[in-house]
Amino acid sequence: MSGINFGKRGWPSARMDGAEQEKYERIRQSSSGSIQQWAIEESAGKNSGPVTAEDRATTNRRTTGKSGSKFRRYLRGGLRTGLGIALVVGLYFSPALFERWVLPPVLPYLPGSNVPPRGFEAAAAPLGVPPAVSPSLEYRLQPSPDSFQPFVAYDPCRPVHYVVRPDNMPAGADRLVQEAVAEVSAATGLQFVYDGITTEGPSEQREKYQPDLYGKRWAPVLIAWSTPEESPGLAGNIVGLGGSAYAHAPGHPYIYVAGQVNLDAPALAPLMGQWEGPDHVKATIMHELGHVLGLDHTDDPGQLMYGEGNGVTELADGDRAGLALLGTGECVPQL
Ligand SMILES: [Zn+2]
Repeated sequence: MSGINFGKRGWPSARMDGAEQEKYERIRQSSSGSIQQWAIEESAGKNSGPVTAEDRATTNRRTTGKSGSKFRRYLRGGLRTGLGIALVVGLYFSPALFERWVLPPVLPYLPGSNVPPRGFEAAAAPLGVPPAVSPSLEYRLQPSPDSFQPFVAYDPCRPVHYVVRPDNMPAGADRLVQEAVAEVSAATGLQFVYDGITTEGPSEQREKYQPDLYGKRWAPVLIAWSTPEESPGLAGNIVGLGGSAYAHAPGHPYIYVAGQVNLDAPALAPLMGQWEGPDHVKATIMHELGHVLGLDHTDDPGQLMYGEGNGVTELADGDRAGLALLGTGECVPQL
């Protein structure tokens, strides 16, 4: 959500945020303990519908290689047999042991799995570290699903991939997306990788694993330029929505694995031609990325993550302290 009051600078004075109506959807996904949560403020819109083969052809995809070779088929057959045995063996374990030790490594390879193979791109150590920041408590974290885990963050041992759905994007705004990502990346130490454009539209029910579109890995963060018609959550004064879904392996912390930023293109486009307007558009994107990375709204009107319009266009002390903390999440190669 955007925490910006454009009215103070002569723009529409409406509050550009839907802070207080954040909606948390929890879907118990599977016996792996994987849970989905889209911490999206308000409804994020309708499904984009099935992606056609033609769409997929134009979409930036990451696949794990050729799928038709005899060797791979042989490998798969062997793998399936092995997995079958593993499952049968697993039934002799206690349910707890089975769920914790036997099922997780096997699950990604079962047909129709809703989780990717574990540890995609996971390095042995964090890829970056957050910068030193001034101490500040003027930030708030998204609620954690586990009372023993103070916050949920992205895994710092692997890059945060992102894609852009460019439909409706105002001219010149592509640069603002890249700048906004670079700023939150620097503030967290998390490494972001741009995977290019996508045809995927925003959806409140977005799947966090979409192997047909993105290959066998968690879906990238989707930054979509949308409209209130496509995304009813952007109706009224709401110019942005943002949040992430988390996953969980038994015995390990929850981590965010996929997120989305949904921008109201018709509301933001007029600002592009105005004095300092692009700064506000970029601030909107950074604010939503703050939600994606795990920040909630703060009560301090001096922060970019303030829930009401405040005209702030830069990360302030509290924003930076919160983002630095969110760059210190745990590495969970078991996901
Ligand atoms: Zn917000």
